[in-house]
Amino acid sequence: MEQIKHHLTDSLLMGYASGNLPEAFSLVVATHISLCDECRARLASFDAVGGALIDEDDTVEMTENALNATLELIARASSAPKPSTPTKGAVLPSPLQGYVGGDLDSVRWRNLGGGVKHAVLKTSSQATVRLLQIPAGAAMPDHGHNGTELTLVLKGAFQDEDGRFGRGDIEIANEDLHHTPIAEEGDVCICLAATDAPLRFRRLIPRIAQPFIGI
Ligand code: ZN
Ligand code: ZN
Repeated sequence: MEQIKHHLTDSLLMGYASGNLPEAFSLVVATHISLCDECRARLASFDAVGGALIDEDDTVEMTENALNATLELIARASSAPKPSTPTKGAVLPSPLQGYVGGDLDSVRWRNLGGGVKHAVLKTSSQATVRLLQIPAGAAMPDHGHNGTELTLVLKGAFQDEDGRFGRGDIEIANEDLHHTPIAEEGDVCICLAATDAPLRFRRLIPRIAQPFIGI
């Protein structure tokens, strides 16, 4: 397996462990953890800390509201996508296969132009997650971000202003990053990308196309 160089932040792992991420982000986190032993171990240590905090709270009398809030957190955490060990030979790890209904051949791609295709997955409306397919050597339009964008590579690789991203690598972009991801030569690049706000395109044509392609 390729060496993973770009990992989840502590705040994303903690948000995931406590069930506080939008479903779309939870899916990207669960998919990365399925591919990454290092982040799976870090998540286990956060879960242990969370468990210890709950134990300490046992002695404190809980108000009904606090109890309801806790129950809601637990319900949200248990409904979030779960990491798993990848099936041999599969491109999509199983948290993702649950959303797609199978591996890559089950994805219902839609053309975005320039050979780029996407498939939006059904999640809660707080954030959007899609599979993206970029032909070898092709560039995505350069863009900035109004919120947070998580991009996880599943196949092939891309490069941008922040470095090289191969299978399992995750790029975390926010308002500070303006980038032009370019797929590496030799293989189509397939990514899982989640955003909680529309992207900002610098050039005129993507801006005009944006309402139609819905990115
Ligand atoms: Zn990792
Ligand atoms: Zn971006």
